Amino acid sequence: MSGSWEAVIGLEVHAQLLTRTKLFCGCATSFGAPPNTHVCPTCLGLPGALPVLNGEAVRMAVRTALSLGCSIKESSRFARKNYFYPDLPKGYQISQYDEPFSEGGFVEFEVEESGGQAKDAPPVTKRARLTRIHMEEDAGKNLHDLGGGSVVDLNRAGTPLVEIVGEPDLRTPAEAAGYLRALRDVLVFLGVNDGNLEEGSFRCDANVSIRPAGSSTLGTRVELKNINSFRFVEKALAGEIARQRDVLESGGRVVQETRGWDEKTSSTFSLRSKETAQDYRYFPEPDLPPLRLDEAFVATLRATLAETPRVKRERFVSELGLSPYAAQVLTQHPRVAAFFEEAATLSLDGVAVANFIQSEVLRDVTTRGVEAIFPVTPGQVVEILKLVSQGKISGKQAKELYAKAKGTTASPAALAADLGMSQVSDPAAIEAACAKVVADNAKQAEQYRAGKTGVFGFFVGQVMKATKGSANPQLVNETLKRLLGG
Ligand SMILES: [Zn+2]
Repeated sequence: MSGSWEAVIGLEVHAQLLTRTKLFCGCATSFGAPPNTHVCPTCLGLPGALPVLNGEAVRMAVRTALSLGCSIKESSRFARKNYFYPDLPKGYQISQYDEPFSEGGFVEFEVEESGGQAKDAPPVTKRARLTRIHMEEDAGKNLHDLGGGSVVDLNRAGTPLVEIVGEPDLRTPAEAAGYLRALRDVLVFLGVNDGNLEEGSFRCDANVSIRPAGSSTLGTRVELKNINSFRFVEKALAGEIARQRDVLESGGRVVQETRGWDEKTSSTFSLRSKETAQDYRYFPEPDLPPLRLDEAFVATLRATLAETPRVKRERFVSELGLSPYAAQVLTQHPRVAAFFEEAATLSLDGVAVANFIQSEVLRDVTTRGVEAIFPVTPGQVVEILKLVSQGKISGKQAKELYAKAKGTTASPAALAADLGMSQVSDPAAIEAACAKVVADNAKQAEQYRAGKTGVFGFFVGQVMKATKGSANPQLVNETLKRLLGG
């Protein structure tokens, strides 16, 4: 945006907790069941049905808040948020309003700040504060234009959510995207959310306003609803910021409202004027007692917290010697990180394991939510790398061996023996192969001797080709240097 304006962005994230059952009843939360099969009197809001709070949802919500540095309130309360919507059969949503179970906290995230100036500049780490995290139940789903009409699926009604409300600390669309990615990673590594934006289990609304750069007052904010992919976050925010700037620069006034993002036109459109808290007529939920979270309960949960992806990355760099980039790649998914750690522990050479997983294994890994399917086991990877470090097979053969081991439980060492793989480390055989390559490429040899040392790689490549990748690369290097008189 132009230098004279500054954007102020705060994000509200709704994350579905990975409990087996809903927040106030025993209905299953699994995705993709036939419509209206996971429902009961409680989540349908039938008269006389009473809500019972799901303990597992509470534990997951508290672990989420602790991971994000929030303080946990000893006493909190559920409230009814009243509004009419076809996918909300009770006519109200049970949420937390003036007494949420947690407050404060922060999200640490990375953002590229080079602005295209210095491509290799490392990302900058930033921190944005959280206002609060509270628990609430999800609504159902309206499906429009099916068979000429609209229908409602209430399977999702009553699914447990945490709403993570951020302070307006973000200043650019890139910061918002970085914040969202970091937050998603924390939840997925904790195992409380599957991070799936497309299926709606991790949803983001953004509050955006702009103000003259340097000003400390806030402009009128617009709420952007349901941005359902990381790709759209930056685009939707940039589009809305540009729209507000145009409105203000042409002498207009930004109206407080809720807007949606239209991918086709790359612009935002008005949905409705913004509701205020009064519109919802909140009042304490009479069917649920206040929620008590005592210190001992919270301490027990604190002890179960997993390492956050950020701490894991730092440890991969400081303890295992990985580059920041490799640490980043290997912590994209909790199962990938666990796979790497298991292999690194078995092999004691974290860097070699990291390189091999990045170059070979990752492209064959399929992830779905918090689950992942691997083509090989960490033990198989370690066994392949052991054959390399013992000089029994070459790096190229390691790749071939991996391809053969994929999808099997075979021992790579046994496979290598079956395939007759062995690295040629016999000096005489290597000398013969190198001598032939030098003789066959007299012109290049002459160039090398005349000082064009860049052709050396060509000779190495030819020898490796002639030996089908089985020659010991170190011996090839030494022998070629000697033969070429370099
Ligand atoms: Zn139910």
